[in-house]
Amino acid sequence: MHEIRFHNTYSGKVEPFVPQTPNEVKMYTCGPTVYDFAHIGNFRTFVFQDALRRFLKLRGFRLTHVMNLTDVDDRIIANSAAAGVSIRDYTEKYIQAFFADCKTLSVEAPEHWIRATDNIDDMVSLIQRLQKNTYTYQSEGSIYYRISKFKDYGKLSKIDLSGMQVNARVDNDRYEKESARDFALWKAPKPGEHFWESPIGAGRPGWHIECSAMAMKYLGETLDIHTGGIDLSFPHHENEIAQSEAATGKQFVRFWMHAEHLLVEGEKMSKSAGNFFTLRDLFAKGYKPSALRFALCSVPYRRQLNFTFDGLQQATSSVERLRNFAARLKDEKFPSANRSTMKESIAQAAADFDAGLSDDLNTAQALAAMYDFVREANIAMDKGEFQQTDVAPAQEFLTSFDKVFAIVEDNDAEKLKNLGYDSATGDASDAEIEKLIAERQAARQRRDFPASDRIRKELSDRGIIVEDTKDGKVRWKRK
Ligand SMILES: [Zn+2]
Repeated sequence: MHEIRFHNTYSGKVEPFVPQTPNEVKMYTCGPTVYDFAHIGNFRTFVFQDALRRFLKLRGFRLTHVMNLTDVDDRIIANSAAAGVSIRDYTEKYIQAFFADCKTLSVEAPEHWIRATDNIDDMVSLIQRLQKNTYTYQSEGSIYYRISKFKDYGKLSKIDLSGMQVNARVDNDRYEKESARDFALWKAPKPGEHFWESPIGAGRPGWHIECSAMAMKYLGETLDIHTGGIDLSFPHHENEIAQSEAATGKQFVRFWMHAEHLLVEGEKMSKSAGNFFTLRDLFAKGYKPSALRFALCSVPYRRQLNFTFDGLQQATSSVERLRNFAARLKDEKFPSANRSTMKESIAQAAADFDAGLSDDLNTAQALAAMYDFVREANIAMDKGEFQQTDVAPAQEFLTSFDKVFAIVEDNDAEKLKNLGYDSATGDASDAEIEKLIAERQAARQRRDFPASDRIRKELSDRGIIVEDTKDGKVRWKRK
């Protein structure tokens, strides 16, 4: 086992990771703002934090991980008021969609999913603590945080506050570094908007106070890890630090880990550019959840990920290679000499896999360790050198691998069905089907029966029946 080292945005350095309590990790992830379907950029971050929690668990840590659902913020308030429905009714659909999307991408449920609107009292209490410590002031019924009073303000995002006007305020939850201002902790109600009665007046919480209050309620005043997308480092996480530390006088988070942006075909993703995708957009095009998960976690989290359709196609093949290998291990008979030819290779590959993930969750290195091993093992199998005694350790390595990557087990068809994509997956074009059938024929010719069976299953999952005729030809039809 290698020493675990993570990049900490706060220090700007890669540091050895040791939790406060031995073998226990307290982790918080900013969840989605549930006013729409989450897109693949959001899921880059959620897959990253999933791989992180899975790796920590594989290394034996007990995890207490909280993810919040922001079900009250500026956009939700505005959209639900415009639709004339309650916040709960408005957000419920997107919350359920998010849970279903996570399941489809094998993103594990954290130990606690929590909704902001279930924790308003805790936000009010935290604001009261800040009032007592004189970090706040009121203006027109709203309560603001006085950032000039918090001497470490800006240290996470490294912003320069020298030109800032004292007492300049910002009411929006989301703003740019250039508009760093005193931000709203509690917002006075506006006509037609939902609000809560509370000891600090009628109103609703700002977005930033939600995360501070909920993180500390469930995890205590100091967390081991806080994750999120890099775009959250300012102002959201900066404000979380200011709120939490001004209330407790303690360090709020020991390790800040931020995932970089995702680009689509080299461009920033945006609805107006027509390159904006939710998971469901991609599933409707016939791509599989496993391929998408592979594509999202194959690039180390601190590198920008350029999502491309070529890349997604390659990810599909990469997943297929692993599944074929797992099927070979399971189905083929190998020579049963007592000596093992692969023992050292398997041990080395497993060590390289751990070294990759221990090095700031370098998923590319961990994947390379697995694929190098698969190439070597396939060659040994073809030459008849892979031994029956090698099967169990190879499977064990594959199992450990999949505890983090979660792509080997083939449940794509079932997941898509659960999401309502029965017909979409059956919409394969004739050219696609012919291509798969040719691949299956080639696999049969080289007597790679696990591969040919897998392709037959894939065709079947897509609604295609394959019939082998007596004269060696293949016929196919749609179910
Ligand atoms: Zn947050």
